[in-house]
Amino acid sequence: MASKRTTVRDLRRHNRSLLLSKLYFDGPLSRHELSQLTGLSAATVSNVTAELGEERLITEAGQVESDGGRPRVLLRVDPAYGHVAGVDIGETGVKVELFDLAMNRLATVDHPLPKAPDPATAVEQVTSGLREVFAGFEDASVLGVGIGVPGTVEQGERVLVHAPTVGWDAVPLVSLLQEAGVSLPLFVDNGAKTQGQAEMWFGAGRGARHAVIALIGSGVGAAVVTDGTTYRGSTSSAGEWGHTTIAYGGQQCRCGALGCLEAYIGAGGVLARYRKVRGKDVPGEDEQAQFAALLEAAPRSKTAAKVLDETAGYLGAGIANLINLFNPERIVIGGWAGSALGEQLLPRIRSVAGEHALRHPFSQTSIQLGSLGLDAVATGAATLPVADLLAQGATSKIAKPGAPNSDAA
Ligand SMILES: [Zn+2]
Repeated sequence: MASKRTTVRDLRRHNRSLLLSKLYFDGPLSRHELSQLTGLSAATVSNVTAELGEERLITEAGQVESDGGRPRVLLRVDPAYGHVAGVDIGETGVKVELFDLAMNRLATVDHPLPKAPDPATAVEQVTSGLREVFAGFEDASVLGVGIGVPGTVEQGERVLVHAPTVGWDAVPLVSLLQEAGVSLPLFVDNGAKTQGQAEMWFGAGRGARHAVIALIGSGVGAAVVTDGTTYRGSTSSAGEWGHTTIAYGGQQCRCGALGCLEAYIGAGGVLARYRKVRGKDVPGEDEQAQFAALLEAAPRSKTAAKVLDETAGYLGAGIANLINLFNPERIVIGGWAGSALGEQLLPRIRSVAGEHALRHPFSQTSIQLGSLGLDAVATGAATLPVADLLAQGATSKIAKPGAPNSDAA
């Protein structure tokens, strides 16, 4: 009997997950369309959508005419069903954002971080950021908090963050946040992977089954999506594209190795080359301002133009490696430095990639810029609890945000 009960429950969860996901990504849709798109019978669609409607997960969204018959009611996921928070723990600051279920942004706060912040400082900024975005939404139903981090994340009973570029070695981030009083469900992933999920759901990756989303900022990472799923490897560190070797015995990378791609196309590496050939410091108060100064100088400075041309070369070669390894249909370049480089140099990057990649897979790949701007890590982090809700068919409990306040003293 037990196994039969499990089967029925699994089937119910599967049907709820299927219909909810369809409505989330492609809604509004009529029951008739849902049945056609999912292959579920009209009776099952009718039962399950009635159930989801009673639970206020979905709501009606107008009507459409049908050929000859009665008008059909359109259904969509109800944005008010619950809230999600997204956190970007970056190398220079923490961004915390609050969204409704349809990913409409309701609040944003930014807190700066010192260089190579210790975990306690980052945890403090995250908890105060959560407190701030939830102010005024204390009664909200919260599906969870997603967190993107600048390193690899070992999932398991204890979630551990390994981020050598900020000096974090096996940091138990979830436990630390819980000890600091955060009692909401927490989901942690690598920032490049959360940014990748955001571009896949709402941005330049939408519609692709095989894609690589490259994140280029101070650090360099990638989300490799194969057949619709992010490729993770045995302990979730897959996609560390920035630490693949582009020059044997080359520049020292922040990870300790020599010749990593990140040491050539990450903002720090690019600026170090520019400083060296220029023979003096680059104007600007921080990396982003200095990077902007380099791009701005390029039309009139041979030195700046040469540094950018080399950077486009290293980036194009790195992209060729991705094409040869993963045969993606699309490569999306994002991150603040990636967007800035891409806007100015995309044709050059494409042509270098073409010179280094195998001809056939290159001809099947489009290379384009991310469309979500620079905020995509936090947005993508916020999709982690939504993805969990959709995968579980909304069969788990919902939390209240009071918790971030509980350590206020
Ligand atoms: Zn490295």
